[in-house]
Formats: sequence, C-alpha cells, structure tokens
Amino acid sequence: MTPETVRLRGRAAAPGLAAGQLAHLAHAAVKQKAIGSPEEERRALQQAIVRASADLAAIAVSQEREAADILAFQLALLEDDDLSAPAFAEIAGGEPAGEAWRRALDAQIADYSAAEDEYFKARSADLVDVRDRVLRLLSGENEAASALPEAAIVVAEDLAPSRFLQIDWTRSGGIALTGGSASSHVAVLARARGVPMVVSLGEIPAADGVWALLDGEHGEIEIAPSEARIAEWRKVAAAEAEGRAEEARSAALPATTRSGVRIEALINIQNVDDLTADAAHADGVGLVRTEFLFEPGRPLPDEATQYASYRRILEWADVRPVTFRTLDAGGDKPIPGVTFDGELNPFLGVRGLRLSLRLPALFRTQLRALARAAAHGNLKIMLPMVTTPAELDEARAHLSAVMAELEFEGVEGRRPPLGIMVEVPAAALAIDRFDADFYSIGSNDLVQYVTACDRGSGELAALADPLNPGVIELIRRTVAHGERTDAPVSLCGDMAGDPRLAPALLDCGLKALSVAPLALARLKAAIARHE
Ligand code: PEP
Ligand code: MG
Repeated sequence: MTPETVRLRGRAAAPGLAAGQLAHLAHAAVKQKAIGSPEEERRALQQAIVRASADLAAIAVSQEREAADILAFQLALLEDDDLSAPAFAEIAGGEPAGEAWRRALDAQIADYSAAEDEYFKARSADLVDVRDRVLRLLSGENEAASALPEAAIVVAEDLAPSRFLQIDWTRSGGIALTGGSASSHVAVLARARGVPMVVSLGEIPAADGVWALLDGEHGEIEIAPSEARIAEWRKVAAAEAEGRAEEARSAALPATTRSGVRIEALINIQNVDDLTADAAHADGVGLVRTEFLFEPGRPLPDEATQYASYRRILEWADVRPVTFRTLDAGGDKPIPGVTFDGELNPFLGVRGLRLSLRLPALFRTQLRALARAAAHGNLKIMLPMVTTPAELDEARAHLSAVMAELEFEGVEGRRPPLGIMVEVPAAALAIDRFDADFYSIGSNDLVQYVTACDRGSGELAALADPLNPGVIELIRRTVAHGERTDAPVSLCGDMAGDPRLAPALLDCGLKALSVAPLALARLKAAIARHE
C-alpha cells in the first residue's frame, strides 16, 4: 500500500471486481422557470407527469425484464393520485408547480427513508428518480447524461435506476455508493447486468480521477492503490471473469463433486417470473416463497388463484420436485391487514407458521390449493418458522382435514409430503423430536437467531458469520437426524449461493442445496471443485 491508500468497507450489493478512476455523479440542480398563474402551474405539473409517464413507458420497451419491472413500478408511483394530490393542493394555494412537487415528493421520500423495513427504505431511490424526472420536465431541461471516463467507478450518494440505465456499462467499471441499499432497484439492475456494486461506504475521501479497486463480493473499496496493486487486481479480475465463463459452461451439467458424489442443485424462486433460462438446469425448486401471491395492497388470493399459480410452476418443473413454502409473512415481510401491527420485534413475532395457525381459514385455503395442485406434479409442502413438534402436528391435522374435505367434495387432490424449515434454534437443537417428511435449513434466519444479529444489519455483518461453529453444529445435527429417519435434508438460505461457504455445507453432509437461479451455475462450479 502507498501511504495515501485508503480502504473502506461498505455492504456488498452486486458481486464482481472492478478497477477504475472515481467519477462522482453530482445531483443535477434543476433550474427554476418563471412562475405562472395557479391554473398554468397546475397544467404544467399535469403535463409534466403525463410526459414523464410516457417517457418511462417508452424506455421500458427496450429493456430486459428486471429494468422493465422497475420502470413499471415507477410508472405506478407517477400514476398514483395520492402522491401528487398534496402538490396540486399547494399549487391551488399559489405555490409554483416545481416547489409544490418537490415538497410533496420530499415528504414521501423522508417517510420511505425513515422506514425500518429495508425494502421500503430502498424504494426511496425510486421516488427521488420520479421526483427529478418531473422536475427536469418542468424546468424544460433535457436529461443528457454527462460522459464518464472509460472503466469509471461511479460514486454517488445513491443512484437512480433511470440514471443507471443511461450509463454504458460495457465501458464503466462499477458503482460505489456512500449511502444506498443492497435491496434497492439499482442493486437489482447491477446484479442482473453483472456490474460490481458496493453500498453504505460512507464518505469517499477522494476526487474524480483517483484510481480505486472495487470488490463487490466483499463490499470493499481501496482508494489510490499502488500501480503494482492495480496490475495484480487486474489479474485477479481476469481470473474471476474466466471463472464465470467456466461456470457458464458447467451450468447445464448435473452437480457432482470431484469425487463423484451427486448433489441436488435446486433453486429458490419468489414467483413464476423467476423461472428463467438459468432455472432450467436446476434439479427442481427447493423453495417457492409463496408470499408473492400475498402482495401488500392486493386482495388476498383465493383458492382458485393460488391453485392456478402453483400449477403453472409444477407444469414448468415437469417431473422435478417443487417445494412450496406456506405463507411466511411477518418479520421482514409484513402484509398489511394480515400480519400483526406494532410488534416490538417482528422477527421474533407472529410470523410464518405462527401466523398461519392463528388464521386457520387463510391457512386451509392455501393447503387446499396446494393439495389440489399436487395432483399435477411432484409437489411438497414446507412450513416456515417451526419452533416445536406440536406446531407441526397442528399443521398436519389441518392438512388431514383439508384432504378429507376434498375427498368428501369429490375434488381431485393428492396428499403431499409435509416438511419443515429448520431456522429456529429451538427446533434445530431438538430436531430429533420431529417427525417431518423432510427438512430444509433456512440459514438466513438460523444465522440471525443463533448469532443474535439482525439479518439486515450491515454493521453486524461480520458477527453474523454463517460459519459460526454454533450454526455449523445445528446444520450437522439436522443432517444426522435426516439420515437416521430417512428424511431428505436440504438447505435453502443464501449461504448455499456463496461459493466460499458451499464447501462447509457439503462437509456437513448436505446433499441438496437450493439457491437463487442466478447463483445456480456458481453453486455447480463450487460443487465440482469440492473433493
Ligand atoms: C431462510 O431463512 O434462510 C430462508 C430461506 O427463508 P427467508 O429468507 O425467506 O426467510
Ligand atoms: Mg426464513
């Protein structure tokens, strides 16, 4: 390291290595136009919103799915009358359109930014994007993006998704955000395009043009490295790119260790859209997060809607197994009107199976839809957040009642295997008391509960180590219990998607791992390297 070299640690948001010169993106100041009458200002804002919507729709046409979805989300924001109503009210009171719009949006942005929930917090960047798009139109400015140097590391407080889409990422290296969030839409885009990205770096004490090395895997940036270090970094980055090419080649092959042990490589999906080309090479679906059907703001899905969605996934899977997890609302996945409000600690609250058992009508509707869909494929049901064997017994009794109901009604169905997620330490510690049909370790929650570190906390990321001996011991116990009782055991937390952690999981005796579709090729390559 040269004396002036600085290393900063943030949060990993998109993997990959980049070397390049820093290029700070300033927040574009928007010029104020002459002010008209309230009627003229009202019309100006209305026209700007209509035009902004049309622009977003036009940009979305040429984008891949991730970007199109994000632009559709912004479009929905723009079309939401509740968002613009305060601005129109201020205009009627004599305020200029730009000021009124900015204030209305700033109030919403402040609300979103203050949200405890990482998901909502991350959406504030979309509101900033929408705010500035309308402000630019009101001031008559066009949005030509300033040019960036080749292989630049773009530095900003946060980055708007539309700004991301303007940058030529074949020429630029990576993204270093002083704020931002790994759950933001721009992080989704960066992961989809393979652009390394680190967030929450805090102040970056270096000017434009200074060289930096960005590590999107470990969430770090090294500012002003020596020339020797840049050269060495480039070699590592090239090897990493080669590694990715190798992954792409092995993606279609069955997952087998070096010593020839066949491992099931499954995928986790949030909804039907996740069944992309990457997913085709999976041995099945290890986790369907059915929360996608219960989206906030949408009516609760009835039995027919759920049945149709489950069937579509089974048809895609053909003979391969698909494990559907019953509703895991609560914790970091609140559903207004369904989950309990005002819990002091929602992660330790009425979530997952605890909620389903308190809402039997909702639970049975889901079980009915699943049992009916089971007639059309290799379907399994998995219960989230199980703490005691009594909860499994209660859920099993509901399933028995549902099966009897279907039989009585003469409705086609099949009783699926009923398994549990092992993610609560009490269940993992007393796993030999359970008699589930199968087990799947939810390492995201297991790690957070064993280490007592909030899974969303960047500050505690090092302490929330998935390789903590306490976590590994619980994984081993679960695998041993599965072997003793002849019940399959898999792991479906993010841990399996990290090639540095996969070897430890295989060493624990796991023979089935489930990861995000994008991580499948990486998992297979990690398995292939393992002795
Ligand atoms: C987990 O906890 O590891 C898991 C797979 O479930 P989720 O991330 O949805 O809580
Ligand atoms: Mg979980």
